[in-house]
Amino acid sequence: MVLSCKAGRKLEINHHITQIMSIGEGTDQVKEFLCSICSLKVNYDFFGTKPPFAKSILLMEDSYVMKDPFTSEIGIISLGSHCSLCTKSVCASQDCSIFYTKRFCMSCVNANLEEFPFEIQQEIKNRKLKGK
Ligand SMILES: [Zn+2]
Ligand SMILES: [Zn+2]
Repeated sequence: MVLSCKAGRKLEINHHITQIMSIGEGTDQVKEFLCSICSLKVNYDFFGTKPPFAKSILLMEDSYVMKDPFTSEIGIISLGSHCSLCTKSVCASQDCSIFYTKRFCMSCVNANLEEFPFEIQQEIKNRKLKGK
């Protein structure tokens, strides 16, 4: 019983990964990024580290990327990524996530605040004060 449960979960994860991988193949389906914290919803063009439309750019993490509509040169906007702990998608806004060697959503940061270096803890505290 336990075994079959585990197998089922593994399959689910594999399915999830295939879905992510298939993004970026030139399909017509609308690709939508949704921030799990602020519910920001944006159509994105690419997920990964090397956007095909901006070859000189290499991102530090797998990111949801859209072409920058406001510049004539090839620019990109990084919308967000997945939290490295809970894997939820979070936008790059200061209120939703921080990047400290990896992307962390604010709920994971707050839940594990003592695991982060002092500077990060201070910054989070300062942000909270400003928000009030
Ligand atoms: Zn957000
Ligand atoms: Zn998280």
